[in-house]
Amino acid sequence: SNNLQGKVAFVQGGSRGIGAAIVKRLASDGAAVAFTYVSSEAQSQLLVDEVISQGGQAIAIKADSTEPEAIRRAIRETKAHFGRLDIVVNNAGTLIWDSIENLTLEDWERTINTNVRSVFVASQEAALHMNDGGRIINIGSTNAERIPFVGGAIYGMSKSALVGLAKGLARDLGPRAITVNNIQPGPVDTDMNPDNGDSSEPIKAMGALGRFGKAEEIASFVAFIAGPEAGYITGASLMIDGGFSA
Ligand code: NDP
Repeated sequence: SNNLQGKVAFVQGGSRGIGAAIVKRLASDGAAVAFTYVSSEAQSQLLVDEVISQGGQAIAIKADSTEPEAIRRAIRETKAHFGRLDIVVNNAGTLIWDSIENLTLEDWERTINTNVRSVFVASQEAALHMNDGGRIINIGSTNAERIPFVGGAIYGMSKSALVGLAKGLARDLGPRAITVNNIQPGPVDTDMNPDNGDSSEPIKAMGALGRFGKAEEIASFVAFIAGPEAGYITGASLMIDGGFSA
């Protein structure tokens, strides 16, 4: 597909897992893609090489999502490099999962800064640089609605914060035909949530489909929301969770 031909995308947190699948998919749909990472330097270079070897365009930018100025700089660099900005995907996230007795204020702050403040900062900077008709897509979680295990208080809080953020931003940016949506995955097999982990069997049992999702399945939904056919979807939080929340 060349749905996204001529578009420029910025993926915050694109080196591994769901983010890497999004980078590959947007690039194969024709977008030029800049993505950030914080620690996976070598993996990021391999991803850039893979996209280029398949005829696409990609660059990797080191930018810690807990540092607002690093995010802003990465977005400006994306526009400077590719000449425009159309799509921002906020995927970087951290999972600190523990019961209230064990959580610290540092855990709370790290979760909020990585999962929520980074989305606010990127959206604000993107609004300055983005073309009308653009797309802001945040990777939330089914845990915004359902947390059927001990330990998900601050993670769930961070992902449900994105629900309200997307609604407000959709109102702010609607006059420019920029849409803002959350994609809320269920369990997806990545380093964060491996299909062969200790809790993977109970997690699978919670879903209607009884399996983990694939990062590519999330990426194809992101590509649809990023594309020209999704222009009337905004302010929405959209489940793609195999029925985990059903
Ligand atoms: P992974 O842990 O596998 O990958 C995380 C990605 O985000 C990496 O590319 C990582 O970069 C990047 N990242 C993390 N912290 C930072 C930071 N401070 N600055 C810059 N980049 C950062 O996670 P997943 O792919 O599983 O998750 C991606 C998103 O999807 C997250 O928002 C997560 O909450 C959400 N999600 C995941 C689910 C799952 O079951 N896997 C379910 C529902 C939602 P680096 O490689 O450099 O560390």
